Amino acid sequence: MENWTSYFQELMPEIVEELRTYVEMETPTHNKEAVDRLGSVLAERFAALGCRVDVIQQREYGNPLRIEYGKGDEQILILGHFDTVKEIGTLQREPWRIEDGRVYGPGAYDMKAGIVFSYFALRTIIEKGLPLQNKLVFFWNTDEETGSLASEHLIKEEARKSKCVLVIEPAAGNGALKTSRKGGGDFILKVRGQAAHAGNDHAKGINAIEELAHHVLNIQSWTDYALGTTLSVGTIKGGSASNVVPDEAEAVIDVRVQTIQESERIERLMRQLSPVLPGASLIVEGGITKPPMERTEGTEELFRLARSQAKLEGIELKEIGVGGTSDGNFAAATGTPVLDGLGPVGDGAHASHEHIVLSEVPGRIAVLLRLITAL
Ligand SMILES: [Zn+2]
Repeated sequence: MENWTSYFQELMPEIVEELRTYVEMETPTHNKEAVDRLGSVLAERFAALGCRVDVIQQREYGNPLRIEYGKGDEQILILGHFDTVKEIGTLQREPWRIEDGRVYGPGAYDMKAGIVFSYFALRTIIEKGLPLQNKLVFFWNTDEETGSLASEHLIKEEARKSKCVLVIEPAAGNGALKTSRKGGGDFILKVRGQAAHAGNDHAKGINAIEELAHHVLNIQSWTDYALGTTLSVGTIKGGSASNVVPDEAEAVIDVRVQTIQESERIERLMRQLSPVLPGASLIVEGGITKPPMERTEGTEELFRLARSQAKLEGIELKEIGVGGTSDGNFAAATGTPVLDGLGPVGDGAHASHEHIVLSEVPGRIAVLLRLITAL
């Protein structure tokens, strides 16, 4: 049986060059023109392999790509994005460079390397005539870094049609795959009271800050570390002057949950908040916008398959649950099993030391290839 790690090891100069091409085309989410330029390159690459490429026209963000290969009643969705958080010009401060076995450059780790991995895995499957049991759909979106507002429905639509979803976001710091991700969102709690002169009319005032204080402590107390639920009042504001009883106050609350049940519990508690002070009123806005990606039985099964395939390459795969979200959260909301973190090993997403570890690249592509062909 072929050892794919050594096969990709030999292709490394070409793989690195491909990544360099992507990294040196900067793609901040809000620059449609720049994102579309890389989109055209990607479309061309996959079309040249014989894929059917749909460029989905979008007005505000870059055009996402839906790429289809092969036949089969069932499809596997391979999910990634090619926008980055880094503005145009970052390359000048953080140029493409290889140092101590690491490749540095904006977007290399998050997550252009993952797209390169997918490209070489597919190219090899085709060149070697490896049999596929499913149709493959690669979906590369362009607004992940700002919350996938324009592509969420497309991701869900594809996930719903798929038997599983492989997300090629970076692996965790230690190389582990991500089998669960917390969900979350922000709530805004607005309080209305009654303004009054703090000296002359104290009794006539309804102090919005006092009202808010009751809720701040209450909301914080809903945190349950054992269940993976956290609530953090991140900002508060209110009042205008010390001698005025404030009639307005507001808090923004960061919520993270690990299960849909907890998501529903917190939503319910937030909506049921009622005023403590007579005459005060509350408005609750926002909510949990990213559903949690739960570690379901289907995900567990997917991970076991990935682990056994990795073993054939001499790689010991681990799994981890993480707090940060990805488009895997949206995909998981459809009930389809999701395995995340199949991209590069490295560090520094969104930071200036962003890099991938070169020695891990051949093995990770090998695992992806084996997983795709074993499903
Ligand atoms: Zn990111």
